[in-house]
Amino acid sequence: MPNKNIYVTKPFLPSFDEYSNEIRSIWGSYMLTNDGPLYDQFLIGLCEYLNADNATLFVNGHMALDLAIKALRLKGEVITTPYTFVSTTHALVMNGITPVFCDIDNDTYNIDENKIEALITDKTSAILAVHVYGTPCNVDALNQIAQKHNLMLVYDAAHAFGVKINGVPITQYGDISMLSFHATKVFHTIEGGALIYKDALLKQTLANLRNFGINGPESILAVGLNAKMNEFVSAMGICNLRHVDEQINSRKIVTEHYDSKLRNKAGIKLFKRNDNVHYNYAYYPILIDDKITGFSRDELFIELQKQNIFARKYFYPLITNAECYKESYAYRKTPVAAYVADHILTLPLYADLSEEDIDRICDIILSMVR
Ligand SMILES: *Cc1c(COP(=O)(O)O)cnc(C)c1O
Repeated sequence: MPNKNIYVTKPFLPSFDEYSNEIRSIWGSYMLTNDGPLYDQFLIGLCEYLNADNATLFVNGHMALDLAIKALRLKGEVITTPYTFVSTTHALVMNGITPVFCDIDNDTYNIDENKIEALITDKTSAILAVHVYGTPCNVDALNQIAQKHNLMLVYDAAHAFGVKINGVPITQYGDISMLSFHATKVFHTIEGGALIYKDALLKQTLANLRNFGINGPESILAVGLNAKMNEFVSAMGICNLRHVDEQINSRKIVTEHYDSKLRNKAGIKLFKRNDNVHYNYAYYPILIDDKITGFSRDELFIELQKQNIFARKYFYPLITNAECYKESYAYRKTPVAAYVADHILTLPLYADLSEEDIDRICDIILSMVR
């Protein structure tokens, strides 16, 4: 019997009845978009869940990040990581900003706070860090550097929904954090995104920018675009917020089963987790040291694929090696990021991935060790 396909992730869906119940009111209100009652309801629920004072919802995470950059008027150079999804870099470059790539930490795969200050120039306007795989950046160190040099601190928290440090939601750190609610993320609204921010004055700026700069029936205050979240999407958010804690819990169980199978295997590096962090178990990356295992990341990737298991090379290629970027800037070397991009493999992880499937995946990996 051929084994079924296992993909790197599988989106959560509420029951059909739960979702249809939530959208029923639209057939009475005829509000389909433009911040109707479901938008408001989702926003309130989200702010409660994240303990956030200020939040705005968007059509997707990328547009949220793009508008964060515009609202904060970032310019010149921004120090960021090459080890991320390309959206992070595109958002800077599409706003005319030069990304300055800083190497990453060997254990967290996040921007290495010890290497940032050497990259600061009089053109630097901000740090754009990513909580890669939902692992928190060193938020205290980044905050200190940003304060000392008068830089904005922006987080791409696309992977980090629900993550807390000492009980504090991760989106409470920095000047502004972007969340992605794409279908592949731990919490999703099909497509969607949010900004969580400190400065309440940004609310009006963001509201204008994401609605063509329109400020009132006869007032067009700014040059803007269209990045609003609609009512059907908000309804999905309302439903999925009810289930996200149980989803994270199930992901934790899946993660722990992987850990129990792969822990202390020579040449396979797993995440170190800290007790003070509440994780969301968004991804399960393993780092393959081929000199020890006798097989490379790419060999494992192909072997799994042959057996209908579709792991992903998150993040490969490194952004600085992408076709659209490799010729553009004179990059400094980021050797840690380069090594991780060449050796990382993200294994399938979702709430209802069965123990049998995890066993099968791990048995393939372990059978390859020479
Ligand atoms: C998913 C993702 C984004 C983009 O979010 P969308 O909602 O898909 O636009 C940006 N950055 C990172 C790190 C992501 O994983």
